[in-house]
Amino acid sequence: MNLAVARSNRVGLPANSTYAIAGCREGSGGLARSSFPFFLSILLVWRLIVRVLKLDISGVPESWITLEHAVGYYAQGVVAYTVGEPMRALRGGHNHAGIRSQIEVHPIIAVNGVSVADRLLRATPRLTRFNHKLFKRDRYTCAYCGGKFREDELEREHVVPTSRGGLDHWTNVVSSCRSCNQLKGAKTPEEAGMPLLYVPYVPSRWEDMLLQARTEHIVGDQMDFLRANLPKESRLLV
Ligand SMILES: [Zn+2]
Repeated sequence: MNLAVARSNRVGLPANSTYAIAGCREGSGGLARSSFPFFLSILLVWRLIVRVLKLDISGVPESWITLEHAVGYYAQGVVAYTVGEPMRALRGGHNHAGIRSQIEVHPIIAVNGVSVADRLLRATPRLTRFNHKLFKRDRYTCAYCGGKFREDELEREHVVPTSRGGLDHWTNVVSSCRSCNQLKGAKTPEEAGMPLLYVPYVPSRWEDMLLQARTEHIVGDQMDFLRANLPKESRLLV
């Protein structure tokens, strides 16, 4: 049985091809039967959370993609260049000479094609109804009392209330603890006597990539690449 198989119906692989993470085939590691489910669960969790950073041809981050998606680009021969050390080797089938194919997946890949850098850099990062990116931008700090809170203790707060014409936009929203949010109510900071402790801002493309992924899921080469391109004033550098 193949474990951790990237089936060809995901992206771009030949119809009968499969790729398995090297060293993860049943029996190859002499694993005890009783330890196998645990090993399998760890492997599957890793495969679910690990992501490859895809760049456009000019080096601007486009998206986080799955391992299988990345393998598809390698298999199509459209990976223009890579950044960082290979983080995983995926083994495929044998060719007519009996040689088994292997694809080394790097943490960052640039894909051939027309540059879409202008579009990517002009676009405003999405402020979804989920507040994870907002709270991470604000380093889980209430904009009014300065306290540090868990994600589930924070709320999205509109600096100029929406009932007063304030927009649901990066530059008008901050993270707030519940107490401060209730205290401020439908007032402006000036009216409530609650000055902002930090200024809300629109994240850059590179910041947004860091905000999208959970920090613990970003490997070192990806973190170094994204942090090297952050604006000097980014709070993510603090
Ligand atoms: Zn507060």
